[in-house]
Amino acid sequence: MEIQFLGGATEVGRLGMLLRQGSDTLLFDYGMLPKDPPLYPMKAPPVDRVFVSHAHLDHSGMVPWLCGRHDTDVVLTPPTSDVADLLLEDSLKVAAAEGYDPPFDGSDIQATRRNTRAVDFGDRVDAGSVEVTLHSAGHIPGATMFEVNANQTVVFTGDIHTLTTDLVKGARPVPCDTLVIESTYAGRNHPDRLKTQYQFLEKIRAVNNRGGLALVPAFAVGRTQDMLLTLAAGKFDVWLDGMGKKVNNIYMDYPEYLRSARKLRDAMNRVQVVRGERAARQALEADVIVTTSGMLDGGPVVRYLQAMRDDPRSAILLTGYQVEGSNGRRLMDEGVVELDGEDVKVRCEWQKYDFSAHAGHDDLVRFIEGCDPQRVVLMHGDHREALAEALDGREVLLPVEGQWYPL
Ligand SMILES: [Zn+2]
Ligand SMILES: [Zn+2]
Repeated sequence: MEIQFLGGATEVGRLGMLLRQGSDTLLFDYGMLPKDPPLYPMKAPPVDRVFVSHAHLDHSGMVPWLCGRHDTDVVLTPPTSDVADLLLEDSLKVAAAEGYDPPFDGSDIQATRRNTRAVDFGDRVDAGSVEVTLHSAGHIPGATMFEVNANQTVVFTGDIHTLTTDLVKGARPVPCDTLVIESTYAGRNHPDRLKTQYQFLEKIRAVNNRGGLALVPAFAVGRTQDMLLTLAAGKFDVWLDGMGKKVNNIYMDYPEYLRSARKLRDAMNRVQVVRGERAARQALEADVIVTTSGMLDGGPVVRYLQAMRDDPRSAILLTGYQVEGSNGRRLMDEGVVELDGEDVKVRCEWQKYDFSAHAGHDDLVRFIEGCDPQRVVLMHGDHREALAEALDGREVLLPVEGQWYPL
């Protein structure tokens, strides 16, 4: 067996891994790095099948390119399929708005739909000389780890989270010979989740008590649902805007992929959904607004930000990773954001909370020990050495893009 990364080995984003066994070549994930302009992985050769771990664009964003050119079959879970479809359509709109040429068009997205082979956790897929079994990765609902069985067992994790949250159950180790594992948080641990939730809710209470609004920018996929579940513990007047609304509905279509469909439904019933101008104005009078985009770069969050940024009673509560160059990162580093092409100062309070859906350093080490592989391949990280050092006694590979590695 051999593997080659087309992207995403040495960085977080644009992941793609080829796996060759005899005359069969499989592709695992094929994503982009959604920057402005986006970055893409190396061109994939014609492959019969791509296995997509989850819907986030750094794992799925280039799949239509593949289906349009090579008629590749796409293997993924039903929620991943539906959410990826939504994000891929949206990526074309973003490309048009930002004025760059996307690498695929609507007809390629249609080819992706035609070629989709939806499968569930526990299912086995025959792929020539290898057999692939799906396991839950715990990262977001439907996120999958792929177990590849041939003359050895290789597990490809995609993004994983080992902590059980209100949204999904944590990933369980899968015994294997070679473990290809993400390492986004190599060398870093998350603060205690319950403590973070408590501080987050306390902050909202304080902001509301002084007459302010808490603006919670959240990614549509995973984080928005996480925030609704967290906010259900407080008695707030919460309004929801942006693409997270559609993602909620998709997840409710697949209750078996959620830790508790009832809890998510209850949490959704507690919030008011913004539909139209008048509701958006009303939302500004509420306690909390949860909305996209999570990095303040576009979407409905912009108009709310515009309305509340000068009010020292109000606060922006960031809930996710803020990529270099994003408005959210500029807010954290310089206290300014770009609105309508102009840099403006933000006078309200802001805070960042760590609700990450990735395993932290110690979680990764424990997970690897549970899988007990001979060989560990670290990918999807820019501090991989920190994790490699913690894996005494195992063969560790830190692959670079474009090179074949025998397993
Ligand atoms: Zn992800
Ligand atoms: Zn990722």
